[in-house]
Amino acid sequence: MSFKLPDLPYDYNALEPHIDARTMEIHHGKHHAGYTSKLNDAISGSPQEGKSIEELLAMVDQLGGAVRNNGGGYYNHSLFWKVMGPNKGGNPSGKLAEAINSDLGGFDAFKSEFEKAAATRFGSGWAWLIVDANGKLKVSSTPNQDNPLMPVAEVKGSPILGLDVWEHAYYLNYQNRRPDYISAFWNVVNWDQVSANYEAARS
Ligand code: MN
Repeated sequence: MSFKLPDLPYDYNALEPHIDARTMEIHHGKHHAGYTSKLNDAISGSPQEGKSIEELLAMVDQLGGAVRNNGGGYYNHSLFWKVMGPNKGGNPSGKLAEAINSDLGGFDAFKSEFEKAAATRFGSGWAWLIVDANGKLKVSSTPNQDNPLMPVAEVKGSPILGLDVWEHAYYLNYQNRRPDYISAFWNVVNWDQVSANYEAARS
């Protein structure tokens, strides 16, 4: 049994003009595909073969860098594609919106905190909205392909929204203008999916 590259749930050009088709094609078809095949190579024939991705991420501190980097890359991008979509954006609603108000001081305060986490992550990494062990929302960021499910993460929890700030995620269209890419991200966030992730993380 091995991990499979998940299909993109929309066309490569579906997120334009915010994220361009060529970037999506390379990002999904080359980068995510590469993490997936290298993860399979890393666990093939090892005692870890057959474990779920969540089980692997929870023990990366005991495994080699190949599982940490490629398992993280596999998981992070699988989440990333799902929390975006065409004709999305807008505001969260329901219990998630209430939690953003109570835990993070409201939607505008959350957006500022998330944008700051994404913009100030030096080098490559991710910004996250997570549910922590107490069921509270938190904003965090991780380097490289680490994520908040890993014991090595500074801030731990279940990620419900993630933003890839590696240059490969935006350089073709935005070059060095990471803040413009971060601003554009709000136009493609699939809040229904983030809400579903929130409910699942709390159950
Ligand atoms: Mn990426």
